[in-house]
Amino acid sequence: MSTSLDLCAPLAVLGSDVQVPLVSGEKVGYAALDYAASAPALQRVWDDVAAYAPYYGSVHRGAGYLSQLSTDLFEQSRRTVAEFLDLREDDQVVFTRATTDSLNLLAGAVPAGTRVFAFETEHHASLLPWQHAGLEVMYLRAPRSHAEAVAALDAALTAHSSGPRLFCVTGASNVTGELWPVAELTEVAHRRGARVVLDAAQLAPHHRVSVRELDVDWIAFSGHKLYAPFGAGVLAGRADWLDAAEPYLAGGGASRTVAREPNGSIAVEWQSGPARHEAGSPNVIGAYAIAAACRALTEAGFDQLERREQALVERLEAGLAEIPEVTVLNLFGGYAPRVGVLSFVVRGWNSSHFAAALSAEYGIGVRDGLFCAHPLVRTLLGSQDRQPTQCGAPEPSLPGERSLNAIRVSFGAGTPEEHVERFLAAVRELTTSGARWNYRNEGGRCVADTRR
Ligand code: PLP
Repeated sequence: MSTSLDLCAPLAVLGSDVQVPLVSGEKVGYAALDYAASAPALQRVWDDVAAYAPYYGSVHRGAGYLSQLSTDLFEQSRRTVAEFLDLREDDQVVFTRATTDSLNLLAGAVPAGTRVFAFETEHHASLLPWQHAGLEVMYLRAPRSHAEAVAALDAALTAHSSGPRLFCVTGASNVTGELWPVAELTEVAHRRGARVVLDAAQLAPHHRVSVRELDVDWIAFSGHKLYAPFGAGVLAGRADWLDAAEPYLAGGGASRTVAREPNGSIAVEWQSGPARHEAGSPNVIGAYAIAAACRALTEAGFDQLERREQALVERLEAGLAEIPEVTVLNLFGGYAPRVGVLSFVVRGWNSSHFAAALSAEYGIGVRDGLFCAHPLVRTLLGSQDRQPTQCGAPEPSLPGERSLNAIRVSFGAGTPEEHVERFLAAVRELTTSGARWNYRNEGGRCVADTRR
């Protein structure tokens, strides 16, 4: 393993010693390079959850000792998340299922008549909930620089200056890993009277995030991308719109009093605060796991983690730049800093075929496809007018033909240098020598053909 980068050790994660079979029959240590989809659990998170598990009990509804303990831990987890995000005093933390859930919750909670602004480059979780909730949405064209993004938002908000408005933006792209100028965009949005929600699904696992400094009104992220894969997420931020909205779900916990009226109907008084949008028994293990991850990342130190990750990003970029068949996808022209997420295409290869070969022949797990950000990937590939092929069979690679999907490699705090080195060596070998195996389409996926 290369030690040339002189980095701190990766954080301990589950699965780092898992061996997987190659198509040849050999076994190798799995190189998990798909953190952007779901990151492995931090060992610390797993240990904290295991230590709590015997004490698990109901939340907000039991008189027994373990119910009270679990309720305390659930509420303490909320405070830990608030600290981790550097929230303002009056901000709320609502536990959800994940980022998608958080943004759908917010979409249902904004005042009637709110107009939403979003760049078409967003992940579908940030792009689709608004229209789905019946709101009017203005989709802004893909900007090619930070300055262009800020100017486009300014122009759009100036042109539509009345009524409640909400701007939704990602902190780091799940496709290119590029950082977005969140503080500058928020400054413009606020100057024009709009509110801002930050999709931090790909930002929070890689960077210290201060809601206070960025000044965004809400933030959403997922536990399973933050090394806490226990089914919880977060929506945090301003209380006013959330308290004025109908509860996300109707049920116990969200209701303060429920009484039968003389006319036979049921009258409900809803809670305010986070409970209003957390009906039903909450996922206390999920919330506790997120809090454990927040503590572990804070204690490890984001400065150290970022330095380490950036060194791996630079190594990856430099290594790929030496392979002429590889084109890295960048929205902002290759100049914007990125987190440990990078997508690329390989000349002469269908991306599904390439990703399948990385798995079957090298034990490397990446992702291929359009990454739930179809408009963005099609813009980057210049393939807006063409329907994507099914992820699967190696498509004939015609000279000059553009790929219809891409390959994404992503990593984080648990990634050893060896994984990046092995990945680069595998890309070099595949592009020079080709795959050693035959591949076929199985149920829409490209897989090594092991039939005799
Ligand atoms: N936003 C971004 C930028 C993402 O990358 C993702 C998931 O990949 C989501 C939102 C949705 O997250 P989840 O699937 O955890 O709801």
